Amino acid sequence: MARYIFITGGVVSSLGKGITAASLASLFKLRGYKVSLQKLDPYINLDPGTMSPFQHGEVFVTEDGAETDLDLGHYERFVGITMSQNSNVTAGRVYSHVIKKEREGKYLGSTVQVIPHVTDEIKSLIKKGSKGADISFVEVGGTVGDIESLPFLESIRQLNMEMQESHTLFIHLTLLPLVEVTNEIKTKPTQHSVKELRSIGIQPDILLCRGKDKINDHIKNKISLFTNVHKDAVFSAQDASTIYQIPIEYKNQKIDDYILKKLKLPHKKSVIKPWVNFTNKLRKCKRKVKIGMVGKYVELADSYKSLNESLLHASVHNNTSLEIKFIDSEDIKKTNTKKLSELQGIVVPGGFGNRGVNGKILTAQYARVNNIPYLGICLGMQISVIEFARNVLGLKKANSTEFDINTPHPVISLVTEWEDYKKGKLKGNIKQMGGTMRLGAQKCNLIKSSLAYALYKKNIITERHRHRYEVNNSYINKFNDTDLLFSGYSGNKDLMEILELKNHPWYLASQFHPEFTSSPMSGHPLFNSFIKIAYDTK
Ligand code: GLN
Repeated sequence: MARYIFITGGVVSSLGKGITAASLASLFKLRGYKVSLQKLDPYINLDPGTMSPFQHGEVFVTEDGAETDLDLGHYERFVGITMSQNSNVTAGRVYSHVIKKEREGKYLGSTVQVIPHVTDEIKSLIKKGSKGADISFVEVGGTVGDIESLPFLESIRQLNMEMQESHTLFIHLTLLPLVEVTNEIKTKPTQHSVKELRSIGIQPDILLCRGKDKINDHIKNKISLFTNVHKDAVFSAQDASTIYQIPIEYKNQKIDDYILKKLKLPHKKSVIKPWVNFTNKLRKCKRKVKIGMVGKYVELADSYKSLNESLLHASVHNNTSLEIKFIDSEDIKKTNTKKLSELQGIVVPGGFGNRGVNGKILTAQYARVNNIPYLGICLGMQISVIEFARNVLGLKKANSTEFDINTPHPVISLVTEWEDYKKGKLKGNIKQMGGTMRLGAQKCNLIKSSLAYALYKKNIITERHRHRYEVNNSYINKFNDTDLLFSGYSGNKDLMEILELKNHPWYLASQFHPEFTSSPMSGHPLFNSFIKIAYDTK
């Protein structure tokens, strides 16, 4: 039976519960415990797949094709375990299960209520998510005090009551604001947040206090007195120079030892070396590499979370210090592509919709013509195909049917449209948005003698997808005998997965998202090579 560590957040959102859960889980995994992680999200969407990246940041895709919260990306990167459909539970999913059961008559005539039906469903999903684990880390999204997180908090309260003592533990991550004029750390919001938790029957076992600096004993005593949390269980969660420093900071305060004691688990030897090595290497990286990210969601860096992290991992791998310049593709016009010339490498990331597409096409053309290393991801690959078709093959109005359903040359289109196109009638028939994309890990064959093969060193690779549109098979022949090689494909050459340019220092684009499988310790073959060439060529 797994032990459960529940992580809640107080005072404000975005305190870093995800990084906290990931860091603690990593410490226990390194000690040799089997860990699992789960994120409970109180919103009504079935999954974040339909949410705008501006609101919710990146949608992280799991191997089994779930569209999930970006925290799951942190979990995979920090802990090195694979998340699944069960690892992210939204209120929408819980309610849809409950309503389905009600329609099937499974509640045998009862009045279906939040307690016990919704809470029972949540508890059963929590248990499902912890299968096979010694310790399960369960992060409750939102902030304590929100109306919508109440059923989730009630469920973890019930679990605590139902389980043996020392099988559950509550960690509350809270904020200690600093009033700068008087240089005073304020504990009142934390006191209130814990009061709120206690009013619904949850007494936190551990408090992690976010703030600029470490907190002293005086503050700890005060917090302890007002929250009924033992002084030894009040820890600092001070700002760190990099998120990868957090496991070390927690280790230094012996939070993991305290948890082991509380959960009455055997004391396995602690290991922190991989994090120390990685962060030391990160700090020593001085040779600058400047990468431009030309996309649509550049105002919120969280929109490209996994991508940013993958570029960082690859930079550390190459002993370079990464600077990402986020460029709104709408700002790239025919007359100003020169501003791309200061970049050592260009990434055109994934995206949806028409806005800024022309700027991305100009960017891909600039990188191709001026020999600037280019990495296109998902939409970034589709953009490369459109650009090449227009400017090299001379198909001036080539486009994706996502952007122009009447294009005479739908080089990118829905697979269902390929036949319509041959018959001369395109429809554009997406009726349902959520969960209808090509999702999750799929196999891709690599052509020997290609750059992709040289980097992956394998015939068959597996990478994760999240898109609807594909390179239109009817056009593949037109690319024969050009510089553009489709070096990765799936099935019987049905779907094109990777393209590269032959007479270019480094130009590669993938239909899949390699950023979902990069890890801090080893990076990812595509990113590692991209950063190396970007640094070497300028
Ligand atoms: N909008 C494109 C599609 O749906 C690309 C998606 C993406 O970049 N993830 O195919």
